Amino acid sequence: MSSRRTFLKNISLLTLGGLASQHAMASSTLNESSVSPISTASYAKKQMGLQTYSLGQELLKDVPNGLKKLAGMGYTELEIFGYQEKTGMFGDYNPQNTTFISAKDYKKMADDAGIKITSSHLTPMIQDYTPENMSKFEDFWKKATDIHAELGVKYMVQPSLPRIENEDDAKRVCDIFNKAGEITKQSGILWGYHNHHMEFRRVLKAGEKPEQNPNPWAPPKGTYIEELFMKNTDPEKVMFELDVYWTVMGQQDPLEWMDMYKDRIKLLHIKDRWILGDSGMMNFPNIFKKAYEIGILSYFVELEGDKKGRTQFEGVEASAKYLQNASFVK
Ligand code: MG
Repeated sequence: MSSRRTFLKNISLLTLGGLASQHAMASSTLNESSVSPISTASYAKKQMGLQTYSLGQELLKDVPNGLKKLAGMGYTELEIFGYQEKTGMFGDYNPQNTTFISAKDYKKMADDAGIKITSSHLTPMIQDYTPENMSKFEDFWKKATDIHAELGVKYMVQPSLPRIENEDDAKRVCDIFNKAGEITKQSGILWGYHNHHMEFRRVLKAGEKPEQNPNPWAPPKGTYIEELFMKNTDPEKVMFELDVYWTVMGQQDPLEWMDMYKDRIKLLHIKDRWILGDSGMMNFPNIFKKAYEIGILSYFVELEGDKKGRTQFEGVEASAKYLQNASFVK
C-alpha cells in the first residue's frame, strides 16, 4: 500500500542519489512503523534467502549476472543445490546441464554480486541406510564438508527421504544423520534435514501389522517419520529445515510443528504453489510470526516449475516483492 506521504518520502530519498544513502536515511531518520515498505527504498533491509533450485537452468546459463539480478531483487542469501560427489562441483541434476562450478568460483561470483551462499542441499547417492554402509556415508559427508567449508556455508541440508518402512528403519537412518551432523560440526557447519510431505506418513514398529478394519474415529496408529527423526537424532548434531508448503501438503499445520520442535527447527523453506502469497493456502503472516518467535536462523524461498509458461526469474522476483511489501517480514 502506498500513500501520498510514503510516495513523497521515497521521492525525496531517491533524489539523494545512491541506494546506500537511501538505506542509511531510511533507517536513521524515518520511523519505520509509519512507512509502508514499498519499492527499492526498503530493499536489502530484510534478510531474504532463496533456494537456487527455484531457477535451475535459468541461473546456470549465466551465473554471475543471475546472482546480481537476485541481489537486485533484495535477496541477501542463497541456499544452493547440485553438489556432485564425483567432481566436487556444483551443477544441476538436469542431464542437459553443462555448467559445473567449483566452490571457489561460486563463492567469488556470489561475493562479486553482493550475496552470500549460506546453505546447500545435497544427498548421498547411497540407497541403503545400513550400519554396513556407514563408512560410505562418512566418506561422502567428509569430502562434501571440506568443499562446503571452502564455500563458506553455515548449513548443509539433506532434502531427500531414505526408504523407511517402520520405526527401526527410521532409527537406522537417524544414526547416519547423527554421523553426518558430527562430521559437518567439526567444520562449524550445522547439518539439517529438509522435509517433503512423505515425512508426515505414519509408520509402525517393525513386525507390527496395520489393523484390518480400523475404527475411523480412533486415533491412527503409528508415528510420523518426521517425529521419529526429531526423537532419534541428537539435537547437538542435527537440526531441521521445515518446508512449510510440504508440511501443509502433508496435512499438517507448520505452526504446530514449529511450536512442538522450536529448538530443532532452525531453517524454513518458504514456498507456495508458485508465487508466494498467490494461492491462498499458505498463512504466511502467522508462519513468519511464529518463525521469529522461535528464533529461526534463515529462510529460503523456493519455487517449483511454473505450469503457465512464465520464467522462473519472474516468479522469484514476484515472490521477492511479496516479501518486501509484507509488513510481517522483518
Ligand atoms: Mg523445499
